[in-house]
Amino acid sequence: MIPICNEEEVLPRLIGRIKLLLRRLDGETEVIFVDDGSQDGSVGYLREMIAAEPGFRLVELSRNFGHQIAITAGMEAARGDAVIVMDADLQDPPEVVLDLVAKWKEGFEIVYARRVSRQGETWFKRFTARLFYRLLERMTPVHIPRDVGDFRLVGRNALETFKHMPEHDRFVRGMFGWMGFKQAAVPFERPARTVGQTKYPFWKMMHLAIHGIVSFSEKPLHLALWAGLAISALAMVFGAYAMFSWIFETGVVAGWTSVVVIVSLLSGINLFMIGVVGLYVGSIHAEVKRRPLYVVERTAGFEEPTPAAVS
Ligand code: UDP
Ligand code: MG
Repeated sequence: MIPICNEEEVLPRLIGRIKLLLRRLDGETEVIFVDDGSQDGSVGYLREMIAAEPGFRLVELSRNFGHQIAITAGMEAARGDAVIVMDADLQDPPEVVLDLVAKWKEGFEIVYARRVSRQGETWFKRFTARLFYRLLERMTPVHIPRDVGDFRLVGRNALETFKHMPEHDRFVRGMFGWMGFKQAAVPFERPARTVGQTKYPFWKMMHLAIHGIVSFSEKPLHLALWAGLAISALAMVFGAYAMFSWIFETGVVAGWTSVVVIVSLLSGINLFMIGVVGLYVGSIHAEVKRRPLYVVERTAGFEEPTPAAVS
């Protein structure tokens, strides 16, 4: 399954590569595109293509729900014994699917593709990605493999488990780490995006990173506890010093600078900690509303019955 968000330039090439791949795969296959509220000609192109090609299917979401939700929608619509998730921009080369399938046949339930190199991405993206995966590794007890995106093969058992994980804060790669099963990695060289722009600008990447941490770690909450304790201890030492100076009248200074620095530092730390707690509260808020994860506007190419309109 492939999530699509404004990818009209790459679609003809992508579909060509997929057809080549399908010829090399044995067994029955289906190709599911999930349109994540594209504003360009992607949907029109896909609709036409799907009318002509058996085995190609389309799920159109009612608006842009984001990459992770689009992936979820595609996986829930998949009927096969295994489903493969890949990006539309050919950064996940379709040929790697052959290796994924080979590993799956060896008996691995989840096979992820690990990028051993990344071309055409800024040093900033590579650096922040690297930092993020290492930080996350230290913060969570769940094993989330390094340098692995969402390009992976998922077997039926894992897929059924995934369907029973209704969380709204979806960090899909972490969810697969959490569920266990026999997992294996296949290395690949990640080429540059063929055409078009990345759909993950800096702020979206930050958003994904923060939600990844919030949904897989409680460490930031502990941070408030330890920072509070440490600051209180420092305050006591400072208090003793202040009393001492007052009693012995040794250099009782005007103290404007120290007061300003301490007050602003502490209010900064306070606000930061409220923000951290707020992230968790926000996550609970999203959860208790119990809204569906996505809304399907229409589908095409599916044999009956079509996937549920809302999930
Ligand atoms: N995508 C999506 N919804 C979004 C953003 C992205 O479905 O809101 C899709 C996009 O069309 C592509 C995949 O997610 O198939 C990965 O996006 P992109 O290649 O822009 O991310 P990058 O490789 O730069 O991290
Ligand atoms: Mg990409």
